[in-house]
Amino acid sequence: MAFLNKIIDAFFPPRCLLCKRIIKSNKIFCDHCSARVKQIVNKEQINFKYGKQYFDKCVAGFYYQKPMSDIVCNFKFKKTWNKTRALARILEKIVTVNYEGYAIDIITFVPETDKSKKHALLLARETARQLNRQSRPLLKKICNNKTQHSLGRLERLNNIKNVYVLKEDIDVHGKNIILIDDIVTTGSTLNECARMLKLAGANAVLCAAICTTKID
Ligand SMILES: [Zn+2]
Repeated sequence: MAFLNKIIDAFFPPRCLLCKRIIKSNKIFCDHCSARVKQIVNKEQINFKYGKQYFDKCVAGFYYQKPMSDIVCNFKFKKTWNKTRALARILEKIVTVNYEGYAIDIITFVPETDKSKKHALLLARETARQLNRQSRPLLKKICNNKTQHSLGRLERLNNIKNVYVLKEDIDVHGKNIILIDDIVTTGSTLNECARMLKLAGANAVLCAAICTTKID
């Protein structure tokens, strides 16, 4: 797989997410642009503050502010392979740095009912490929709740309850699971997904997102 990645990089050289200059394959931005982006210090964790926390750990690569907020928004509207690959490189890095002590069994993502909103699926699939693993859908969304960002904090928590269920014929008993999403705000979506995975017997649920709105 490392060989395959080298071939892909040779034909489609990785480019800086901001200025599109060609960069080394282990980078996300060129040296010039990396100074413009506020990266979260490695291993800084996001905790769930509005009730019981079900995920074991949650980390993100960047704060949700310009230019990263524009990059993530653009990706949602136009999910090109190059953008997917570059954003997955962020997730690959934070998973490697933060979860190296875990024997990871499965990489999965926060599901959507609307197939056009499959950004977390694409990110999980590409992150898994970069980590030499496979991604797998474990959860499904059973009703269309209101968009989280249109709600206040308390409403968010109630809005998300019982929206996700485990897919049929999935066994997560004793598994260590990486759960991927694009943005963490209150963490209620990731926490609810983690709750369902833990109810089904998962050993550890480790969340990774590209951006977070803030860390307390
Ligand atoms: Zn650049």
